[in-house]
Amino acid sequence: MPELQPLFEVKKMKSRLFLTITLLVLSFLLISPALAAPKVILDGQQLTFDVPPVVDQGRVLVPMRAIFETLGASINWDPAAKTVSATKEQTTVKLTIGIRTAYKNGTPGTLDVPPKIVGGRTLVPLRFVSEALGSEVLWDGKTQTVTINSTSGVKVTVHIIDVGQGDAIYISLRDHNDILIDGGDNTQGSAVVSYLTNQGIDDIELLVATHPHADHIGGLDDVLAAFKVEAVVDNGMVVDTATYRDYRDAVKAEGCPYQKAVPGQSWVFGSYALKALGPVRDHGDANNNSVVCLLDCGEIEFLFTGDAEAEAEADLLGKAVAAEILKVGHHGSRTSTSQAFLAAVSPEVAVISVGAGNTYGHPAASTLQRLKDMGVGISRTDQNGTVIITTDGKTYHVIAKPPSMPPVINKSSPPDESVQPVEPASTGKYVGSAKSDKYHLPSCRYAEQIAPENRVWFSSEAEAQAAGYVACKVCGG
Ligand SMILES: [Zn+2]
Ligand SMILES: [Zn+2]
Repeated sequence: MPELQPLFEVKKMKSRLFLTITLLVLSFLLISPALAAPKVILDGQQLTFDVPPVVDQGRVLVPMRAIFETLGASINWDPAAKTVSATKEQTTVKLTIGIRTAYKNGTPGTLDVPPKIVGGRTLVPLRFVSEALGSEVLWDGKTQTVTINSTSGVKVTVHIIDVGQGDAIYISLRDHNDILIDGGDNTQGSAVVSYLTNQGIDDIELLVATHPHADHIGGLDDVLAAFKVEAVVDNGMVVDTATYRDYRDAVKAEGCPYQKAVPGQSWVFGSYALKALGPVRDHGDANNNSVVCLLDCGEIEFLFTGDAEAEAEADLLGKAVAAEILKVGHHGSRTSTSQAFLAAVSPEVAVISVGAGNTYGHPAASTLQRLKDMGVGISRTDQNGTVIITTDGKTYHVIAKPPSMPPVINKSSPPDESVQPVEPASTGKYVGSAKSDKYHLPSCRYAEQIAPENRVWFSSEAEAQAAGYVACKVCGG
């Protein structure tokens, strides 16, 4: 990544900053007019706007509602006065269309370019509003890119990357220490590589493969080929699949230290530690043998559970599993996130990494209900896309784009598995019921008893087992 060169020194004193706005205007006048709409990157994510940002007299203007909401400010629009007030914590900024005087907490300042209406949208000066609300703003004239850091004290950023049905979690620590937990399925390898490349990572200090299912290790051969990886940890299971062989061959080719996770061991990076909590014992089952680890960022903890289900969760009860943020086990399957485990973790935020319209019925309505009953905030990659959480070790901030469509909620139905928005495949080699945990051959007499609307199809036994189903004792699955 090119080094971003600010055209001026970023001021540390916010109050002085506001008073120096008119000076900053001069530096912006040096910028040549943009040929294309400038790019805006907030905390590592490129923002998209329905009306593209414009450059006016060297100033970048962006749609008001989008930028304020992205920065976490609530807004109040007065159509008669054509004035917007945006409030975040103790700060209120006030701007009026066509007027060059703007206010921060009642103190006036002068804008060189006032807010204006373009394409039916109110555009506001990006730097003014971002800095007034406490963000750092950097401009790279060469690439016409504005980079905004919304929380200047951020030390750790966790990205639950949207890889469809699967997991890929990138953890960025200070001093270029990078951790990747899982890499999505085989089709997602290049997407994960480009996501990491866009984050500007140079190498991966620690790669954790939670368990050898394709939706977790499928993309890791691409990651290992693209980046220097300094250490690999997995759950020690060896399975007979092409995906696993590709992963194992890529680890061998990397030639880095490679070990099985041992509960209790920690990887320490400065003042942060990733601690392995599981697998505590061998369940003879890939999901329950998932590497479970806790990221300790001071007062904020993240718990990553892979595809661990209730059996593995039970092993962890009584251990130090409390965490503010829980990466929900097994894509929100009903066989994970037991009541007892939830009570022990006591999360404030749950992130579910899950593909839209998956055939497993993930996340299960019962799991969502357990989370809601405990008042846990839920972010989902199928609805929110990539979910990013930043922390300074004391507080945290969840950055998730709002769902493009409201989730399907059927208020008249009881909160059980039947209300989940399942979009099952119409056929497959094995069939299960949304109301039980058995899978069958389609010819099995029990399979024939499953109501058509409850049928969940699988292309393989592994797929059925990955979804938390067990073989029927009559037909053997
Ligand atoms: Zn999985
Ligand atoms: Zn799995």
